[in-house]
This record gives sequence, structure tokens and C-alpha cells, in this order.
Amino acid sequence: MTSLPLISVDPDARGRRPAMPPRHLADLDLPGRQALVTELGEPAFRAKQVSNHYFGRLVRDPAQMTDLPAATRERLAGSLLPALLTPVRELACDDGATRKALWRLHDGSLVESVLMGYPDRVTVCISSQAGCGMACPFCATGQAGLTRNLSTAEIVDQAVYLAGVAASGAVAGSPPRLSHVVFMGMGEPLANYSRVVGAIRRLVAPAPEGLGLSQRHITVSTVGLVPAIRRLASEELSVTLALSLHAPDDELRDELVPVNQRWKVSEVLDAVWDYAATTGRRVSIEYAMIKDVNDQPWRADLLGRLLAGKLAHVNLIPLNPTPGSRWDASPKPVEREFVRRLRDAGVSTTVRDTRGREIDGACGQLAAAEDRDTDPPCEATA
Ligand code: SAH
Repeated sequence: MTSLPLISVDPDARGRRPAMPPRHLADLDLPGRQALVTELGEPAFRAKQVSNHYFGRLVRDPAQMTDLPAATRERLAGSLLPALLTPVRELACDDGATRKALWRLHDGSLVESVLMGYPDRVTVCISSQAGCGMACPFCATGQAGLTRNLSTAEIVDQAVYLAGVAASGAVAGSPPRLSHVVFMGMGEPLANYSRVVGAIRRLVAPAPEGLGLSQRHITVSTVGLVPAIRRLASEELSVTLALSLHAPDDELRDELVPVNQRWKVSEVLDAVWDYAATTGRRVSIEYAMIKDVNDQPWRADLLGRLLAGKLAHVNLIPLNPTPGSRWDASPKPVEREFVRRLRDAGVSTTVRDTRGREIDGACGQLAAAEDRDTDPPCEATA
């Protein structure tokens, strides 16, 4: 094998502190907000009032919180509601059922989020880092490297903003209420551990403390940072864990998911089975189908042997095209044979739809370029 990319697991560990955004109410739990509001000379109940606007009514702009006296509004807006995400562009496709939002953060970093409407649910796919340091060669986000971790509130604000878009009825044919959140946007969520766990706590806390989503409806997707998976299992949260496996053997996984050089297939699978045992939740195994790379029948059989009898579900993802990539998606007959072998081994398997491909909003396509000339012929909504 040729030289493999170096991986930086934690950007904060390099000594240079990246420019984090100002504090926002979504960074704090309700007692934290109450303490802050009191410090600002306002009665503690204002914390609940503002939280109710933000998490309950999905109002992010202080100017619209008209039941607050003007002076209070100004004081609280500065300390609790700084603008974190400036929308740069929104794109829609699939008849408006998929929408991708590109944001600029306070330091100029760009991140993306995707809203997906289905007949029975509304899902948002959110970013946990600007860029990503995991360097998976088939993923567009991995190509540019890591800029910085997002704050808890920068993560939560993506979901609150898009929950507001859904509530406005913008996603025809879907329920108006956001129900699912997947950490499958830009970044490696478990490399930004404490802020991501903080964001999960805000997403699941009942309103007005948080968005009141069900833990089961939150999925954290990881390349397989073993210590962080073990730590997540101890948080008394039972969110769904997705493992980006992509190869059942170390030789290929070392190349496709370079962090495998640190934690091998057997170690990461041990960690996810322990996670499943602790939380009672079935683990999702993500596997991008890459033509002539990881789609051979023998790899399906090996994967089947690794997963048989485990609390696991395989999600095959037809490889989405990324700029400059030398790889293609597997042909459909190859994909069908792969599915057949896994099911024969007793492993529950589905093929994920490729929502958002035309707007570069599908898995692995988020690269947050402001003026990409490859932007699709898709309806621009902003
Ligand atoms: N860093 C996390 C979450 C982000 S990616 C992780 O790797 O799990 C979400 C999923 O999309 C991962 O399973 C990732 O491997 C997959 N993915 C990345 N690039 C892809 C591509 N070009 N086609 C299909 N899936 C891709």
C-alpha cells in the first residue's frame, strides 16, 4: 500500500485555539441560562421565556420576541442570542423534499446542513465540524481537511433553523414537525465529543429547555473512534450509533477509513457491540458500495460472518460522486448480489436512497464551497 494520510483526531489538541463563536443560549442547559439571565440583572423567568421562543416556537431572531420589553430584548439578545449562522444559499431538489443550506459562521468558515422530508417524518442532517480531519478518500468533506470544531449552539442552531423551515410548511407532503436528526453532515462528531453530546442533550430535552426529540430518532455516525464510542455508551443517552465501516477487512479499511490504522475492524466492532448491549439499540453499519473496490462477493460473505447474530443493520450507500474521485458506484446487479449474500447470512440490510445528489447534498458530498461552478441546475431558494 502507498503512503496513507495522517489523521488529526482533535483540532484543539494542536495548541492553536481555533476561533470559537460567542456563547449562545443553546450552549447552556436551563439552569445555566437562568444563572446567566440573573447575572445580567433580569429575573430568572426570562430564561424560560427566551428558551420558549427559540426551542418551542423556533424563533431565532430576538426582534420577533415582542413580548419582551425592548431594553430586556436588547440585553438578552447580545448575551444569549448572537447570530451564529448566516445563510449563504439554500438549494432544493426532489420537488422541494430535499433542501441543502450553506451557512457562513462568525469566522468565515462554511458548513452545510440538509433537510429531508418523507411522508412520515422529517430528518435533518447536520454538521459537527467545519471540514473534517478523518481524510476518507471517497468523501468530499474529507478532502479539504479540518478547519475547526463547531460549538454546541452552532450544531443545535442548524436543527432549529431547519425545524423552522419544516414548520413553515416548506416541505410539501411531509409532517411539519422535525422528528429525526442525523450527525451525518460535515465532520466527525465523536472528534468533537463534548460539544456534540451537549448538542444531543439540547435536541432531546423537552421544550423549552430543548427541542424535545426522541433519543431513538437521533443518529450519531462515526468513523469508529473507539474510546469515544465507549464514552458515549456511558452517557445514559440511547441515541442510535452508525458505524462507517465500508470494508470488513483491515487491509482495505486502512485505506478507505484511515483511522482504521489506529483502531482495527475487530476493535471497533467490539466497541459497537458493547454500545448495542449497553443501550439496547441496534447499530447501523454504513457501507458505501464502491465499484471493484469493496463490493466483491467474498467481502459480502466476510461482512455477513462478522455481523451475523449481532444487533446490527446494514445500510448500503451507493457511492455518491465527488469531485476528482477515481471511484464509481457499484453496478446495480453487483449491489443486489451483495444484499442477497448479507441477507442469506441473516443480516438485515437495506440500500439507502440517494437523496440530494443533484444538489451535492447526499452522503459525502458536503464540501461547502461558496461559489462552486458545478452547482446543479436545481431551484435555488435563497
Ligand atoms: N464522519 C462521520 C459522519 C459523516 S459522513 C462518518 O464518517 O460516519 C456520513 C456517511 O456518509 C458516512 O457513512 C460516510 O462514510 C458516508 N460517505 C462519505 N462519502 C460518501 C460518498 N461519496 N458516497 C456515499 N457515502 C459517503
